[in-house]
Amino acid sequence: MTVRDVVVVGSGFGGSVAALRLAERGHRVTVVEAGCRFADADFAASPWQAHRLLWAPRLGLRGILRVRVLRNLLVLTGVGVGGGSLAYAGVLHRPAAGAFRRAGWDPAVDWAAELAPHYAVAERMLGAAPAPLPDADGAGEAVLRRVAGDAGAGGSFGPTRVGIVLDSPGRPVPDPYFGGRGPGRTGCTRCARCVLGCRVGAKNTLVKNYLHLAGRLGARVLPLTTVTALAPRPDGGWWVHTAPTGGPPYRRGGGLRADHVVLAAGAWGTPELLHRCRAAGALPGLGPALGTRTCTNREVLLAVAAPGFDVGPGVAVGAQVRADEATVVQLCRVGGAGHPLSALLAPLAGAGPGALAHWPVRGFGRRTALLLAMEARPSSLTSRLRHGRLALVPDEGPGEPARLPAADTLARAFAGHIGGSAYGLWWNRLLGLPFTAHLTGGCPLGTDPRTSVADPGHRVHGHPTLHIADASVVPAGLGCNPALTVTALAERAFSAWPGA
Ligand SMILES: Cc1cc2nc3c(=O)[nH]c(=O)nc-3n(C[C@H](O)[C@H](O)[C@H](O)COP(=O)(O)OP(=O)(O)OC[C@H]3O[C@@H](n4cnc5c(N)ncnc54)[C@H](O)[C@@H]3O)c2cc1C
Repeated sequence: MTVRDVVVVGSGFGGSVAALRLAERGHRVTVVEAGCRFADADFAASPWQAHRLLWAPRLGLRGILRVRVLRNLLVLTGVGVGGGSLAYAGVLHRPAAGAFRRAGWDPAVDWAAELAPHYAVAERMLGAAPAPLPDADGAGEAVLRRVAGDAGAGGSFGPTRVGIVLDSPGRPVPDPYFGGRGPGRTGCTRCARCVLGCRVGAKNTLVKNYLHLAGRLGARVLPLTTVTALAPRPDGGWWVHTAPTGGPPYRRGGGLRADHVVLAAGAWGTPELLHRCRAAGALPGLGPALGTRTCTNREVLLAVAAPGFDVGPGVAVGAQVRADEATVVQLCRVGGAGHPLSALLAPLAGAGPGALAHWPVRGFGRRTALLLAMEARPSSLTSRLRHGRLALVPDEGPGEPARLPAADTLARAFAGHIGGSAYGLWWNRLLGLPFTAHLTGGCPLGTDPRTSVADPGHRVHGHPTLHIADASVVPAGLGCNPALTVTALAERAFSAWPGA
């Protein structure tokens, strides 16, 4: 086997799998990451620490969560060494079998069968286990179970599966996953602050599994470095142009030489980079499919609160039910006391005057159950470059939802159970602006270069040494949290890497 220089762009789920699996094969791996590197103590201790939570480097915010406000969509993505795993809630679910029959998945591949063994590997690597259901009768999970039971959907209730060290709350434990090759950990304290990054050290971010193990094998990570362009070399390799992240535009960056490049910059970053390369004439092989099949998970976030209600301690996303055939609703909590989300609520229509009395300004974290709904129906956008920036143009179809009736019904029933009120987010309800934290697509896989960007082995058509391994290859909403599927797809791709 020939040892190759491989540059991986982005250190999220796909990029971390690439780093480990290629380092295991002895390749020289460099991971280039636009965001910062964090130790557990660097994460925000509360959601009010915007400089530790949010990412807007030109404003001095160097956290883990980037918010992009487009005309038609609000997009949340994770940033930093570990990508979306820094801000994710740790939920690791396989989609329903029918997910791979949706338009966009290449019908020549039996995705469900091919991915099955790779899901098992991804679950083991990310440490997926059922979330503990709190004992307290009044806790959010118990209410959700009763609400589902009343609606005849009690059988759909269950704990989420999460990648979190759940034993030994608050106590240091030796590496529980990799026979001592992984880092020591601390058990989850049920503080529910997973999305802030997890200062406890209990959440299984990619830094604690794939990237840690890749680092032990010699893979290096360059944080705060943005890949700005790719240029093919005559020898079939690549010149990867980089610049310090957030630096002034006139500051020239450097470059890296690579035999292979793995694009893993996420469903925003990878299509954006490819659009820019195509606009600069650098990638003649790229066809018309670039940017197509961009989609959300059709998510809506609701809140339910009551003065005497206590959602209880727990992980950030503890249980889920089906609100109807297409809609899954997950019970979320944010922990702590006050929270900026309390200023973003608007009562659901018909909530009545009680909604003002129940408004959870004080003790939001304790008094509020958040309900994240995802609808498994087609979502279809196409990304384009507009004035040098990525824009998402809606395709024909129903458009992204700002509200989901089945989720509203469930939230109202939940509010009825606790004697409180149900709320949505005001930009959803009043401005009709949808949001997503689960953007996927833009680089579909397939054999036909007119309808796909890369082949089923993740190699970009016409550029066999350029690979894509991130959420951009997921061409249709999964109806469940996407990180496990992104990981399993990358495991599949790198199990068949040239020279394996
Ligand atoms: C708040 C929040 C909570 C979430 N919770 C869950 C959950 O519980 N379960 C779940 O399944 N999913 C969850 N998600 C979604 C999940 O995080 C994403 O689906 C997943 O991270 C996508 O993985 P990826 O490999 O495509 O890339 P990402 O994880 O997005 O990583 C891409 C990386 O590339 C970097 N990058 C981008 N452009 C460049 C460039 N030009 N040069 C260098 N680096 C670059 C970015 O900084 C980023 O670190 C959540 C998302 C958010 C925002």
